[in-house]
Amino acid sequence: MAHTVLLDNIETRHYINGAFSCSSDGATFQLESPYSHEKIADVSEASIEDTNRAVAAAKAAFAAWSNLDIPTRGGYMRKMAILIREASQELAQLDALSMGRPISSYFDANYAAEQMDHYAEAGWEARGETSLNTPGFVNMTFRQPYGPVAIIIPWNIPVAMWASRVAPALAAGCTVVLKSSEKAPLSSAKLAALAHRAGFPPGVINVLSGHGTPCGSTLASHMDIRVINFTGSSATGRLVQAAASSSNLKKVILELGGKSPTLVFDDVDIEGVTADMAKSVLFNSGQTCMASTRIYVQESIAESFMSAFVKIFSAARKGDPLNPNTEIGPQADKKQFEQIKAYLATARFDATSKLLTGGRASHEAGDGGYFIEPTAYCHVAENAKTQREEIFGPFVNINVFKTESEAIKKANATEYGLYASVYTKDLSRALRVAKAFESGFVGVNCTSPTSPPDMPFGGYKCSGQGREGLGHSLSEYLEFKSVVVKLETTATNVD
Ligand code: NAD
Repeated sequence: MAHTVLLDNIETRHYINGAFSCSSDGATFQLESPYSHEKIADVSEASIEDTNRAVAAAKAAFAAWSNLDIPTRGGYMRKMAILIREASQELAQLDALSMGRPISSYFDANYAAEQMDHYAEAGWEARGETSLNTPGFVNMTFRQPYGPVAIIIPWNIPVAMWASRVAPALAAGCTVVLKSSEKAPLSSAKLAALAHRAGFPPGVINVLSGHGTPCGSTLASHMDIRVINFTGSSATGRLVQAAASSSNLKKVILELGGKSPTLVFDDVDIEGVTADMAKSVLFNSGQTCMASTRIYVQESIAESFMSAFVKIFSAARKGDPLNPNTEIGPQADKKQFEQIKAYLATARFDATSKLLTGGRASHEAGDGGYFIEPTAYCHVAENAKTQREEIFGPFVNINVFKTESEAIKKANATEYGLYASVYTKDLSRALRVAKAFESGFVGVNCTSPTSPPDMPFGGYKCSGQGREGLGHSLSEYLEFKSVVVKLETTATNVD
């Protein structure tokens, strides 16, 4: 399927202090299509020097940006929202080319524009409180921006991640240095070009491309970064947290991985639930943090549920991510593909489990792209590797339960806690289960990717700390300051 993006015309450089530049040492990394293996671009790899330069630019721009009035800051963001909407098709194609994201389910540009529009106004919400509760004092809190913020994003929904982290930081008055993922750097560089066109002052938004080391680790340990917002795997999140602790104890916001459970009770409409479950596991070719990859179904409907699920799950149309009819694309790159293949190999040797469908990489079957067949196993041991670890591919385990308490115990027996869901017509049971889940987000009679933008999103346990969402993200970038004012006793108020 043809794309309209001209490959020799795409932005591959860093955006630092209002200008595009190659890496200080000229280093690049090669990006190839996971579908066709065609070379897409040589992308600039940020050095420590580039990273330091971007942080210095953000630091220098901070005072002026944080002192601008809200309508002026908002004006840049509103312009950016317009430009993002205009570039929507191009952004979708850049992600399809670099990490195989099917354009059929591309919502990111619209979502990103909405974030910009919302935060163009939301700066007004940065207000403190007053207290007259201490006699002889008027006390108040100020909410003030922390300073330069580092934002590190993953590759799976890069445009949505970019905007939902950058917009609230800017609205709070912070300046940002964003590092894109090495698997999907092009849409982030395109957004940098749009920010340039929107006219943001130099240094307010800086965008770097490159790998975790040296760029990401330099940001995490940088003494001039005051907040780091990291979205990615729990393993890398730990490294970021450790680097923050051993440098300047910067504030750390972590949005990490998941291994989301869904409980399906025997009073549900099976067809509707299986359609939801297949969508959850297959969305973005299974590369979603909140995918419902551990299904627990009540014993009396287990057999009919599994056969209905397999029918819909295995029928997903795979193909070119640029084709609007494609439902599942290739995995993001060779590394991701090989990781999932290793899980497929482990699953084959699992003594108790039974393969319901899939189980192979299509690559092995002579297909060129990095495709994995939608794979479902049932009766998987709770301590099996594929039941405990995040696979990040079109892979789901379906287990059977008898009682509510057994199901809750199994659902919570994980270090992850990002999204959980329950299907039942019994409202009391639904709310009992919702309360019992150790999870930052719960779907009742719906599941991921359902996540309304004004609900706080984030993880319990190893799935993260902090919450994102309209009405919630802004305060993450605002420091509290308590100001206590002692009043003079005058003749008037002594009376
Ligand atoms: P990853 O942890 O491999 O990489 C994430 C980002 O961190 C990339 O930009 C990478 O270059 C950078 N990085 C790598 N090493 C680093 C280091 N030492 N210091 C600083 N930065 C470093 O994750 P990924 O493969 O890009 O993304 C997939 C993961 O992201 C999954 O675990 C998924 O669940 C998670 N995710 C979570 C959410 C959420 O909102 N909770 C959303 C999307 C993805």
